[in-house]
Amino acid sequence: MIKKLSDSELEANLKILVAHERRTLHSILEHINEIDVRKLYLEKAYSSLYDYLIQECSYSGSAAMRRISAARLMKAVPEVGAQIESGHLNLSQVSELSRAIKEKEKTGAVVSNIQKADIARAISQKNIGQTQREISRSLDLELKAPEKTFVQKDESVHLQITLSKEQYQQLLECRDEAASILLSENGDVSLASVIGLLTSSFLHEKKKTVSTTETSPRENKTLTPKTRRNILKKNPCCQFKDPVTGKICGSTFNLEIDHRRSQWAGGNHHVDNLQVLCRAHNNHKYRKESMVRLL
Ligand SMILES: [Zn+2]
Repeated sequence: MIKKLSDSELEANLKILVAHERRTLHSILEHINEIDVRKLYLEKAYSSLYDYLIQECSYSGSAAMRRISAARLMKAVPEVGAQIESGHLNLSQVSELSRAIKEKEKTGAVVSNIQKADIARAISQKNIGQTQREISRSLDLELKAPEKTFVQKDESVHLQITLSKEQYQQLLECRDEAASILLSENGDVSLASVIGLLTSSFLHEKKKTVSTTETSPRENKTLTPKTRRNILKKNPCCQFKDPVTGKICGSTFNLEIDHRRSQWAGGNHHVDNLQVLCRAHNNHKYRKESMVRLL
C-alpha cells in the first residue's frame, strides 16, 4: 500500500502522522498528570509513578523520566502543552528545561512560573544546542551533561557523570581515608573501588537501621524492636497488594510497619495484625482511611 503512494502523497501522509504524534504526546502527558493526581499507581501496587510507567507502559527508565518531567512542567506552565502540540517544543527540550529548573531550585533559588514560561518561549523552535545555551543563560546556570550508562559485554557498566566541585572533593577525601582498606582488599584505589566501598557500607548501614530503628509516626510506640525485626525478616519488602491483579509492591525503600486494621478501628498489636509497607503505600492507606473516618 505504502509503495503505491506518490512522492507528494507520501510526504503529506508523513506530515499528518507527525502532527498526530504530537497531539498524542500532549495527551499522554495530560494522562500522566491525572494519574499522578489520582495516585493510581499506588492503588495498583507501584511505589512510584516512575515504576508504574516502566512496568505498565513499557517505557525505558529514561523515557519515563523525560515524560514525567515534561508532564510536571506542563502542569506548572500550561502554555508548554500547546507548544508541544504545535511542534514548537519537543520532549528533549522540555525535559532539558525541567532538569535545569530542578538544578537551579536545588541552590535555593525560586524559579517562578512566569520565568519558566518565558524560557519555554525563548527555546521555541531551537535545536538542542541552542536550547541548552538559552536555558543556561536565562537561569544563570552551568548545565551538566546528562548521566550516561553503557552496559558492557561482561555486564560491567561504563558510567559518565558530572560531580559538583564539593562532591568530587569529598570523593577524593573518601579515597584518601579508605586507601589502606582498599589496598589490603583488592590492591587498587581507583574511584570505582571507592564508590564500591561507599555503596556497600551504605547498604549495610541501611539494612541495620531498617530492621532496628525504622519508625513511623503511626506505629505504636509499644511495638518492640524485636517484633519489628521479626516482621521485617519475614517480609523484607512492601506488602501492598492490588486487590484486582494481586500484584505486590515489593519496594524495599523506606519500609514501615503498619497495623492492617488500624488502632482507631479496634486493631491490636498482634503479629497477625502487622504488615510491612513502603512509606508511599503507608501514607496512601492512611489517607484512604482518613477519608472513611470523615464520612
Ligand atoms: Zn509499596
